[in-house]
Amino acid sequence: MLQIHQFPCLSDNYGFLVHEPQSGATAAIDTPDADEILRQAQAKGWRITDIWNTHWHPDHAGGNAALKAATGARVTGPAEVERIGAAPDRIVAEGDVVKLGGAEARVLDVGGHTLGHIAYVFDAENTAFVGDALFALGCGRIFEGTAEQMWASLQKIAALPDDATLYCAHEYTQSNARFAVAVDAGNETLAARAAEIDRLRAAGRPTVPMRLGVEKDTNPFLRAPLLKASLGLAGAPDWQAFAEVRKRKDTFKG
Ligand code: ZN
Ligand code: FE
Repeated sequence: MLQIHQFPCLSDNYGFLVHEPQSGATAAIDTPDADEILRQAQAKGWRITDIWNTHWHPDHAGGNAALKAATGARVTGPAEVERIGAAPDRIVAEGDVVKLGGAEARVLDVGGHTLGHIAYVFDAENTAFVGDALFALGCGRIFEGTAEQMWASLQKIAALPDDATLYCAHEYTQSNARFAVAVDAGNETLAARAAEIDRLRAAGRPTVPMRLGVEKDTNPFLRAPLLKASLGLAGAPDWQAFAEVRKRKDTFKG
């Protein structure tokens, strides 16, 4: 049984430590802040053996060198992580399996935010680390890929079981909720969730992780095909509805 420790890093990132107690193996999922990750591991009494990157952005791989120097951890990630200074010790892509002691994670290619963005899916634990691909009530900006590619990536995440637990890398949920409510105004499940998110944040509590089924009912990016008529895109392919929601979010003034 994996133990997952989540903690805030930088201004709005989350750091994650995944610990496999039988072997003692511990992976840092991304490296937003090496010092904070080391402090958190020490407080847990866990020795970091692995770094698993989701994509190359500095708030995800920028702490690789310092954390590796401090721990000797082995870096696993997509080839694009080389852009931040050093190639991963193990380069992985869609379909690869990564081991953490006796636990296994499957790699999904979820490119779009960056071309090489990947997610790690622990099927046996029904848990996935999705980086900046999907957020609670949001999704990553499309910096490098196309809307069609990003839509295909989100469909891979959406194909996981509805009760899967998703860990995303940022606490963006409250501002995402403001946009979601604007673009999907008739959705009562969403309205109730937005109110709950306001309560959680007012109490200083995280909205991450989230449940996939809840995202499918409330995240306007996943719901884009159902919003076609109100987007003025009746009859258009699903990815075009998604592209329109993404475009509106990029210019939304909440
Ligand atoms: Zn990013
Ligand atoms: Fe990020």
